[in-house]
Amino acid sequence: MPIRKHKPKPARERKIALQRIEHLFKQADKAFKYNPKLSNRYVQLARKIGMKYKVKIRSPLKKRFCKHCYHYLKPGINCRVRLTQKHLAYYCLECKRYMRFPYKK
Ligand SMILES: [Zn+2]
Repeated sequence: MPIRKHKPKPARERKIALQRIEHLFKQADKAFKYNPKLSNRYVQLARKIGMKYKVKIRSPLKKRFCKHCYHYLKPGINCRVRLTQKHLAYYCLECKRYMRFPYKK
């Protein structure tokens, strides 16, 4: 079988994908107050779009969902944020696991 190379999606489409991801996170934030399940669904959709169009989810947005259970996280409600010597630690209260982000130099 011939080797299939990944053909990137056109830049125009990738730009739209990025906008949709941003928008979904905005909506997830709004929906969280009255329906956390809906915001989890928005995270799921944003991730799917990211994978399909091969675009990265920006780092500030990456901190807004759990990388283990993909739940939408809101500091103080379902996640705990602590600073350590080397990194920023997010503790997900849904699945009781940590996410660590190194400090930027
Ligand atoms: Zn989690």
